[in-house]
Amino acid sequence: MSRFREPRFLTSVAAPVQFPADVGAEVAFAGRSNAGKSSAINAITQRRGLARTSKTPGRTRLLNYFELAPTKRLVDLPGYGYASVPAAERGAWLPLLESLRTRESLKGLFVIVDARRGLTESDEGLIEWSPPGAHRLHVLLSKADKLNRNESAAVLRDTSTRLAGRGTVQLFSALRGIGVPEAQETLAAWLGLAPRR
Ligand code: GDP
Repeated sequence: MSRFREPRFLTSVAAPVQFPADVGAEVAFAGRSNAGKSSAINAITQRRGLARTSKTPGRTRLLNYFELAPTKRLVDLPGYGYASVPAAERGAWLPLLESLRTRESLKGLFVIVDARRGLTESDEGLIEWSPPGAHRLHVLLSKADKLNRNESAAVLRDTSTRLAGRGTVQLFSALRGIGVPEAQETLAAWLGLAPRR
């Protein structure tokens, strides 16, 4: 049986008034465009195609909500790292991010980072956006299948050092299934779902 019983698309949010009710628990997924975030969401929820992969960059910036169990949500943030976001779009985007950040139900943040690149400046910007007291932080070093053992150990160590206790980090590969159970259990725990027996 899959870890999350009935993952389903809930809603897209383009304006602060459109957020789902701030009850229960939710965890945000963020990462640079092409980091492997959609693939990670699909692997973790075991729903192929739940989050769409290979999107065109620069489309309208929406928060996509998925419900993994009643009042337990995953929120997919648009990929960042493309500089050419039009000013009008940025104007709509910032209040949305601010609304998300102050939600009572937001328990934590998963940051998806390409293991071959490690943490970038934009990842660190996002991490700073998230207040340490309020949100937990977990970094998935994605596409780990592309690294050998030494490279994997090095990026794990380096990321852990840079996080300096602010969060946890693990290797992950949607393609090879590396680290999927670990990511699922972290997410489930943050959402307040019972551990798998
Ligand atoms: P997003 O833009 O962050 O949502 O990234 P996607 O999930 O769309 O993936 C971006 C690219 O990376 C696609 O070409 C995927 O096939 C590839 N990719 C994603 N996950 C993995 C993985 O675990 N291993 C490898 N080798 N490639 C991956």
